[in-house]
Amino acid sequence: METTKTFQELGVSEEILRALEKKGVAMPTRVQEEAIPPLLAWRDVIAKAPTGTGKTFAFGIPMIEHIDPQSDDLQGLILAPTRELAIQIGDELRGLLTFSKKIRVAVVYGGAKIESQIKQLEKHPQIVVATPGRLMDHYKRKTLRLDRVQTVVLDEADRMLDMGFFDDIMKIIKELPTERQTIMFSATLPPKIRQMAKQILRNPAEVNIAVSKPNEAIQQGIYVCYENQKMEIVRALFGEPTGTKTIIFSSSKQKVKELAYTLKRMKLNAAAMHSDLEQEQREEVMLDFKNGKIDLLVATDIVARGIDIEDIGTVVNYDVPHDPEDYIHRIGRTARASATGRAITFVSEKEQGKFHRIETFMERDVEKLPIPEHLGKGPVYNPDESDRRFSGRGGHGRGGNRRDGQSGAGGRGGRNGRNRSGRKNPEQGAQAQSSAQAPQNQGATPEGTQPQGAKERTDGQKNRRNNRRRFRGPKGPQGSPGPKPGDN
Ligand code: ADP
Ligand code: MG
Repeated sequence: METTKTFQELGVSEEILRALEKKGVAMPTRVQEEAIPPLLAWRDVIAKAPTGTGKTFAFGIPMIEHIDPQSDDLQGLILAPTRELAIQIGDELRGLLTFSKKIRVAVVYGGAKIESQIKQLEKHPQIVVATPGRLMDHYKRKTLRLDRVQTVVLDEADRMLDMGFFDDIMKIIKELPTERQTIMFSATLPPKIRQMAKQILRNPAEVNIAVSKPNEAIQQGIYVCYENQKMEIVRALFGEPTGTKTIIFSSSKQKVKELAYTLKRMKLNAAAMHSDLEQEQREEVMLDFKNGKIDLLVATDIVARGIDIEDIGTVVNYDVPHDPEDYIHRIGRTARASATGRAITFVSEKEQGKFHRIETFMERDVEKLPIPEHLGKGPVYNPDESDRRFSGRGGHGRGGNRRDGQSGAGGRGGRNGRNRSGRKNPEQGAQAQSSAQAPQNQGATPEGTQPQGAKERTDGQKNRRNNRRRFRGPKGPQGSPGPKPGDN
């Protein structure tokens, strides 16, 4: 039996509780319930959770709780892949800060004038939300300092890597104090991400929220078709304006570009959204889509994630996503605020096995829609045969049927200290996490000096200002950083 804790029981302070209440947020989501306690206890966290599960508060609340409002130091850094997302995070944090006036948040991103951002930075924000490239620019101009950052968050880490930010991120990490809290949030954890996590996280608590079954309000259907019928089906469905917003997903950038191009040539009101676009272009496309100037948004998975658009009527999967979880992410873009939505998937001969694995994952069959008559007949739906012919698999039902992914860090024990200075027992939370999966342990402690449990952290905390900062024990050639000037 799962019982959800309240924010108060998770150790959230009065100011933030009031702000949440004002926003109408009553109970924590799963990722919040599981990530907040280890984060309040200064642990590193790697969290995988689907879009829309409340990851921003999951890292934002503990970050704010740890900020010293009396200090002008930049203490919390959040890296996000896009301007839109950075702005969104900034807004969410400012909402949480409604009753904590002394904490300032600045948002800096590429594709915008640097001067106004410099002005913001001159006000000494304790929290900065940034895209990695622009943050490096500011750092080089010395318009901000990174040497007092105590917590760094990589939000949508998978997407940041996909967009080519790896080098910038690693450069930034190098400039941060070695003694810090590092947090990674991602909707997926591909090997690249796990590799990076090994390099930059230490003994992280792992939070893993499985994608839930799709919303029942989404009407799902598939066209079992040949690859070369797909475009014509799009024309048949969207040749006339449908009066609702539609997203067409494809897994490759190249395909997205081609599709958008072809649709425009068909005089359909389409635009492409992919990570090769400049920030400004992306923002313009999103705005046009939001405002209804564009009917059809053709997008890769990675780009469309994390953007809140409520009234999408139809989601089309131009190809079958590789992972059932991606399918659920994609179709979850519809039927959000409104009552219903449609999800249509084109399943070519080769993709039948893959689609069947999605059906297995969801434990339901999806309706097979008739192909418009003038397009001729499509293939028969026979996933076993498709697997045999196209992938050399003997049949379906293997791989992809992941139903695990339940919580790793079943965060308990964060009840200590409800207000900032009163958080006396940070180790309690850490201890409770010791049963958490921490597969990165080995790689994350290259020096082999990582404190094993909470004890050393606790000792270390005594060295820190008001027990607020986290101490990791001596590390590497730098040794213990010791108290900073101004600490007392
Ligand atoms: P994610 O980053 O996981 O995609 P967000 O953090 O952007 O999700 O949150 C999605 C939406 O849910 C936001 O509008 C946010 O204000 C709202 N939200 C977050 N936490 C809660 C909660 N505990 N209860 C209700 N709504 C929430
Ligand atoms: Mg998010």
